[in-house]
Amino acid sequence: MTREGLPFDWHKTVWDSLANALKGQSLPHALLLEGERHIGKTLFTRAFAKLVLCKNRKDNLACGACRSCSMISAGTHPDRLELESGENHVSIKVDDVRLLSTFSQRSSHSGAARIAIIPEAHRMNSSASNALLKTLEEPQDQVYIILTSSEFGRLSATVRSRVQRIKMRSPSLKETTDFLSDELEEEGVLEFLRLSRGKPFIDGPEFSRQELSHYRDFQRCVLGTLFIKKSSYELQKCAFKLKPHSAIDEFFLIASEILKRNFIEQEGDIENPCVSKEEISNIRSKQNSVLEKAEFSKNLATFISFVESAQKVIKSSSNPNPQLLLDSLIWRWERLGSSLEKRNKN
Ligand SMILES: [Zn+2]
Repeated sequence: MTREGLPFDWHKTVWDSLANALKGQSLPHALLLEGERHIGKTLFTRAFAKLVLCKNRKDNLACGACRSCSMISAGTHPDRLELESGENHVSIKVDDVRLLSTFSQRSSHSGAARIAIIPEAHRMNSSASNALLKTLEEPQDQVYIILTSSEFGRLSATVRSRVQRIKMRSPSLKETTDFLSDELEEEGVLEFLRLSRGKPFIDGPEFSRQELSHYRDFQRCVLGTLFIKKSSYELQKCAFKLKPHSAIDEFFLIASEILKRNFIEQEGDIENPCVSKEEISNIRSKQNSVLEKAEFSKNLATFISFVESAQKVIKSSSNPNPQLLLDSLIWRWERLGSSLEKRNKN
């Protein structure tokens, strides 16, 4: 199966059941597709929206050729609305949801269905949730609203109670590898899995090979800064090529992995590691006593708690500046590296 217009193999069962419900005119007005991040929920939802609006469905698939399908491909279909994609982690505000209410109340351009998508719907702040409730409580004929979420628990209980929840499973490692093999060489697949921690996507559906190399550069720079082979300025330059929240998430994963592996003598139980064995031995060799090991680990744990706070702030609805948060983490990371090296010189 290809990415465009079709579901991924691991979501085929859900696809078939929703497509059959659509055919039988029993598709619920409001759906919530829930599952882990980076497994293709948004792409699934976009493909399904295409199916709902297609004028010439065949075998539960959109034709890809009718006027409606063409308009969707061009991004100009007036009966389809998608609130800003969830990849930027900014909160969904009440005005966005009002747009959706107006959309659901006006009449359809094509005289058929209308469909609205809310990606990562847990980003709605409380006034946005309340505004959505009104729309959910007064379902309009042939209007479908699809929410996706990787953090079901953060959605308000009242919204949760008014949508039909559908669990989207994550692909197995084999399914992910098969999927990536269509796009990447074997070496690229392994590297991608390492960076994505075994998921088929890293940073949204439009993730490209070029971005893969940006992630690789960022990881190298993070470790280079720890070993004082790179400056925080170089790290900042590498980080700039990623979305700030992605760089912060990477920081969390790399630092957590170092903390964990710093104590593990036997390697091998870490899946898709992003720090090489040599780098870990290098870090260990700089801690010459139990006391130094304890101190470095304490500093690393403190750093991780700063990263976690930054992640929390970004997810909150307080309109944070992710770039500033990232800059302060880079500064802290550089200091962590200096303390490791300085002690070693003494
Ligand atoms: Zn079509």
